Amino acid sequence: MYDYDLLVVGSANADLVIAVERRPGAGETVLGGDLAVHPGGKGANQAVAAARLGARTVLLARVGDDAHGRLLLESQRAAGVDTVGVLVGGAPTGVALITVDPSGDNSIVVSPGANGKLTPGDVRAAASLFQASKVVSTQLEIPLETVVEVVRNLSSESRFVLNPSPPRPLPSELLAACDPLIVNEHEAKVVLGESCVSDRPEDWARLLLAKGPRSVVVTLGAEGALVASADGVERVPSVKVDAVDTTGAGDAFTAALAFRLGAGASLAEAAGYAARVGAAAVTKEGAQVSFPTAEEVEAL
Ligand code: ATP
Repeated sequence: MYDYDLLVVGSANADLVIAVERRPGAGETVLGGDLAVHPGGKGANQAVAAARLGARTVLLARVGDDAHGRLLLESQRAAGVDTVGVLVGGAPTGVALITVDPSGDNSIVVSPGANGKLTPGDVRAAASLFQASKVVSTQLEIPLETVVEVVRNLSSESRFVLNPSPPRPLPSELLAACDPLIVNEHEAKVVLGESCVSDRPEDWARLLLAKGPRSVVVTLGAEGALVASADGVERVPSVKVDAVDTTGAGDAFTAALAFRLGAGASLAEAAGYAARVGAAAVTKEGAQVSFPTAEEVEAL
């Protein structure tokens, strides 16, 4: 019996957002609206998304000993995430400085801060969380060596899910552990690199599978997703919704897929559920506040 359905290892950021009429050029100052501070970062988002769906979730992350760190801890706890694995100190909490103009285009500067100080040693020290978790999920907003250490610490029964975002070429040890590797179009192209010889998502799925993962999921926004494994490639339809803001859709999709896989669903079933969760997330503004509960997914 596992204590947790999902262990998320990853980033936690404070998103500092200012609406502007026009984003500033070099050497320019512009006046904007009031500052909004939201909890974010892919790890924190995935953990909140899973917990809202009812998954027993624990987060392994690092925040600073500061007001942003406390905001992140509070938002995790409010969603029902166990924060026993959130380490505090070592650097300021990670921050994303975001300016957004009336057309919705934005400029973002990220300071990884404490996320960059989540070390392989922190992963080894959290061995009991790895033993207690059915599925482990991560992304690439923490050091790559830390993500590689995650796969070295998986319990023999647990399943590993990776969304390589922001994308970069991946070592074969990491690829081989993914079940599945979850990518959008941009991430698929970066991970494939020179071996990306096609414009068809079905081909990306097959080419990625040939790099070693046990399974692959390609997310296609409003077009849904593709799942690929030794059994073949299958299309997962999307749900038609009025999209308002796609921020965090990928994080909600990944968390939902990981949770359902742990509950025994097939890859295609889990991706079908995750597509409904992603669709629900795009019907509301924001990231964490847009993630649905299990009841809201049922109602969709
Ligand atoms: P983001 O970076 O914006 O968080 P992403 O690029 O990683 O997202 P997407 O492919 O955009 O990931 O979205 C993930 C999933 O969410 C899709 O596979 C789909 O199931 C669902 N989804 C996203 N956008 C829409 C939409 N407009 N309508 C319906 N479903 C959507």
